[in-house]
Amino acid sequence: MSQTISQDKVVGIHYVVKTTEGQLLDQSKEGQPLQFIFGRGMLIKGLENALAGKATGDKFETEIAPADAYGERHDGLIQTVPRSLFGDNEVAPGMQFRASTDNGEQSVIIVDVNDDEVTVDGNHPLAGTALQFDVEVVEVRDATASELDHGHVHPNGQDHD
Ligand SMILES: [Zn+2]
Repeated sequence: MSQTISQDKVVGIHYVVKTTEGQLLDQSKEGQPLQFIFGRGMLIKGLENALAGKATGDKFETEIAPADAYGERHDGLIQTVPRSLFGDNEVAPGMQFRASTDNGEQSVIIVDVNDDEVTVDGNHPLAGTALQFDVEVVEVRDATASELDHGHVHPNGQDHD
């Protein structure tokens, strides 16, 4: 009997994800499906919701709103800080780094630099973007005890040291 996707199943998928304008963002590699333990927050919420109940061989397309993907953009996460905070480090638009903020460690990207100030954006690069997924389910099976214990998938379910 074929299994359907539910909490703690090991799932393998091939996928292509694009913006709704058709820009390719990411895709699984040929012969290397993305494997994960379902229901543990390893995927964006909208994709987990779309996968629930699917079985091996199912193919589907789904459009996921920003709120169920990488969140909405928040202007409050764009901040201007003194350039002196960066010391002698090189700063240029497009550079990404980790910063400690009021919300804890956060990845930020530099969007503008002038002599005195640096503007950084703490939004996820895909915040505010709706995603179009094309998905094929290639594997659904029970997780082994050690996979559940470790919280990750083992190749062919085999144990490791
Ligand atoms: Zn392991």
